[in-house]
Amino acid sequence: SEEEVCTKSPSIPIYACQRKTPVNHLNHHFTCALEALAEGAEFSESDGRALAFRRAASVLKSLPFRVAKIEQLRGVPCLGKHSIRIIQELLDLGACKEVEQIRSNEMNKVMKVFMSVWGVGLKTATRWYRDGLRSLSEVRASPSVKLTRMQQAGFEYYRDLARPVSHVEADTITAAIRALLPNSFITITGGFRRGKDAGHDVDLLLTHPDEGGEVGLLSKLLEHLNEQGSVMFQDYRDNTYKETNAAGFNESKSTMDRFERCFTILRLPLSPRVTSHKDDKVTGRQEVNEAVTSHYTTNLRKKIPEPGERAVRVDFVVCPYSQYAFALLGWTGSQQFERDLRRYASHEKAMILSSHHLFDKQQVRVLTISHTLH
Ligand code: ATP
Ligand code: MN
Ligand code: MN
Repeated sequence: SEEEVCTKSPSIPIYACQRKTPVNHLNHHFTCALEALAEGAEFSESDGRALAFRRAASVLKSLPFRVAKIEQLRGVPCLGKHSIRIIQELLDLGACKEVEQIRSNEMNKVMKVFMSVWGVGLKTATRWYRDGLRSLSEVRASPSVKLTRMQQAGFEYYRDLARPVSHVEADTITAAIRALLPNSFITITGGFRRGKDAGHDVDLLLTHPDEGGEVGLLSKLLEHLNEQGSVMFQDYRDNTYKETNAAGFNESKSTMDRFERCFTILRLPLSPRVTSHKDDKVTGRQEVNEAVTSHYTTNLRKKIPEPGERAVRVDFVVCPYSQYAFALLGWTGSQQFERDLRRYASHEKAMILSSHHLFDKQQVRVLTISHTLH
């Protein structure tokens, strides 16, 4: 029986990175509720509470049985009193008052809508809400709102970016990119690497089997894609990692890595061959750059892709082969897995893990993988 499975299962580890978690787990009813509460806590900047709910949801995702009785959770770690109370109420009544309240809360609903725009995070959404804005059209119409270039693109391609990217689309994009860079090594990371069959973007890690061979790859790729007229938006950042300041970098709390990368919006289909769409390209870029708040409606109308076409978010990250293992680990996610992986390294091993390397605090040195190629 289910209970047997539970009592027989050995103690569940406290770090998400030590637990096996299937893509399709058995406790959505509970995890969705707990994640709604986590989100609500994040919106009201109660980070500790948010983390507790996220941890509770994460551990339920790893259970090999559907929770039917609260007793089954005896000995399961990461479940605080509050989370247990929520689960209990869901078991007893099928719904939970606190969760329903959060879901119908006006601020929560508005914040979710704001954050559905690419480039809009907690900070921006909160500011808009505090300024009295309540809808995306109000944001667009507000003369006091200054959008970043990314947010402008987020509005411009809103409909397309709201549509999930399918696994098939992700594979097609990856194949097209591989065809453009035949000598490099391209790996799909993010949610697709975790086995999800849909995602909000495609995450690609680029490297080259010869150390140093990765330099210039991304520029070359972007040049190709721009020539094809496929690039609707790009936010490029050069590599800022230096071996010499690795230690200092490790001490900083940032989870952002320092790899060369580009966050893009690409237009599908990607032609594997270079064709001339020069005029499209110029128009597309100008529209993104010149977009002023009041122009969004017109831009939106002009930019609706023809049938069969669509805009897709694609993230490119470049790493030297010597850091490939760490970069792959860092870009695969999930967020909770990454968070716990770093916590595990730090608390259990006295090491600091980043997407570049492992830093041993006791030996005071950077550990990289001495690898043999291929
Ligand atoms: P989805 O399927 O919705 O795209 P995802 O897990 O792929 O989900 P992403 O936001 O694409 O989510 O991020 C994938 C992984 O890449 C994250 O888990 C994170 O580790 C890493 N990542 C994303 N953005 C950054 C960033 N700016 N700097 C460093 N790492 C990042
Ligand atoms: Mn992703
Ligand atoms: Mn991404």
